[in-house]
Amino acid sequence: MSSEFQGIGMTSQRSRDRLVLQLRDMDIQSEVVLEVIKSTPRHIFIDEALASRAYDNTALPIGHNQTISQPYIVARMVEALLEGQQPEKVLEIGTGCGYQTAILSRLVKRVYSIERIEALLVKARERFRALKCTNIRAKYGDGNRGWPEHAPFDAIIVSAAPMGVPAQLLEQLQINGKLIIPVGRSGEQQLLSILRTEDDFVEKRLDWVSFVPMIEGVG
Ligand code: SAH
Repeated sequence: MSSEFQGIGMTSQRSRDRLVLQLRDMDIQSEVVLEVIKSTPRHIFIDEALASRAYDNTALPIGHNQTISQPYIVARMVEALLEGQQPEKVLEIGTGCGYQTAILSRLVKRVYSIERIEALLVKARERFRALKCTNIRAKYGDGNRGWPEHAPFDAIIVSAAPMGVPAQLLEQLQINGKLIIPVGRSGEQQLLSILRTEDDFVEKRLDWVSFVPMIEGVG
């Protein structure tokens, strides 16, 4: 790995190791998820001025009133996504800075990601190129509509909270596929895992969470 990705001296690797210990303490159990978090630089996804906080277990601003998700939440969502299945084709809504997209790209075969703020998408794409994440297709658009041209998906993961589950995302889910999505208004959001069966959708509540709202239309 080039020095740019190692961060300042060896501190980044040590900080990532420490972060992974914290995530274990918070009951993240998936070794594959912990391993990918350990080996993915988070500091390149945020502004240099915040680099010293890159491996804190907190959300951080990424501009345009948006945030990079807290590492614990990324781990929790990806762990839930992988539980009991090995999805190949995953759709992500809310690329943001691209951190979670990069994590996913190392765990599944193909990642499709949609972002409604073009400037964030442009920067995220540059990072994917720098990290050689070649299995990501990211587009500018409204995630409420999903990406019908590539549906059905084995799993869908949403990083912004709508007031209700968008019907088009449920429709684009494969049978036995899973949707991980925060739902509700600020202050009372719940993270849901919704499994599509032959003839139904089975919902499980995972956690109380705090996400930016999912907005209709493009920015
Ligand atoms: N997973 C990201 C989280 C970014 S925050 C990360 O690790 O950084 C959530 C993102 O969802 C924001 O970038 C926001 O612009 C985007 N978003 C909100 N509503 C959206 C919509 N309807 N379609 C696509 N993206 C949306």
